[in-house]
Amino acid sequence: MLRKWLCQADVKIAIEPVDPVLIKSGYATMDGADMVPVSTFKDGKRIYYFPGTSLKGVLRSHLERIARTLKQGSVCLPYYGPKKKNIAIPVAEEKNSHSCGYRSRDGKDDEPASVAYADSCAACRLFGSLKFGGRFSIGDAYPLDGHGPTLESRNGVGIDRFTGGTVPGVLFDLQVLVGGKFEASLRLTNFELWQLAALNLLLVDLKDEMITIGSGRSRGLGRVRSTVTSYRLTYVSPVSHLDGLYQLATPQEQQDYSLHGWTPPTPIDLPDAQSHGLRQQYDLKDDWSQTLQTLTPAFESFLQWHGGPQGAVTGQGT
Ligand SMILES: [Zn+2]
Repeated sequence: MLRKWLCQADVKIAIEPVDPVLIKSGYATMDGADMVPVSTFKDGKRIYYFPGTSLKGVLRSHLERIARTLKQGSVCLPYYGPKKKNIAIPVAEEKNSHSCGYRSRDGKDDEPASVAYADSCAACRLFGSLKFGGRFSIGDAYPLDGHGPTLESRNGVGIDRFTGGTVPGVLFDLQVLVGGKFEASLRLTNFELWQLAALNLLLVDLKDEMITIGSGRSRGLGRVRSTVTSYRLTYVSPVSHLDGLYQLATPQEQQDYSLHGWTPPTPIDLPDAQSHGLRQQYDLKDDWSQTLQTLTPAFESFLQWHGGPQGAVTGQGT
């Protein structure tokens, strides 16, 4: 079924930094700052941008936090593999929360994609794991024309990890991006309704400045405000109201992939469709949050129903 294309959500957001932002390039410059933001060249000019991989990581960890708040142990700890088995996981409810990427139902590493999907926690089903690509993607966020950020310098002082005092002679410079307006595209393919609900929770928290990006968050960097500028749902054939993967799949697929059969209390109407070749596109415009409001409980419903990462830890860690 994952080889089919059945439905997709495409969302564009405008990201406006509230605080200065630093997403480190990882390279120190020869003559300047020790930490500089990521950049590339476009039309011969240096452009600063936020890499999609960084944004995806931030959104994943924020969603994991929401999921753990709603149900302890409902998502895995992506960095805990078999080689860290002996390292104590601090929270009792998460003792068995090793990454879904290292888990297997029958002790086999070559289980079919449907089994990997069925056993994966909410975060891995959305964002992927070592076994599974995930349904969610986000591109690099580039500045909109005429809304480039300004580059400013900040100084930092090295802190002694034992005394907590400053280390004489250890100073570092960093460059941060101030202001600007960036645009990023988010995509959710073959979404289950609870996954669309999870995406919407992230969009609301992005709007409410709950999500910070980049380095130095404890020193007041990285707060951003994001607004949705476009929200479109696309299906391969016309639908009379909002459907997710469960409604579009065959009974066998529902079972093999362990799709969650949550449905909204009343069917959610969609605006008129526009045909694009085979595809039917529904543009939710500014009404997306009202239109999809009754979807919100689907996320918690999935967490309770699925129960968290499944299968035993068997894979070989790196
Ligand atoms: Zn997982």
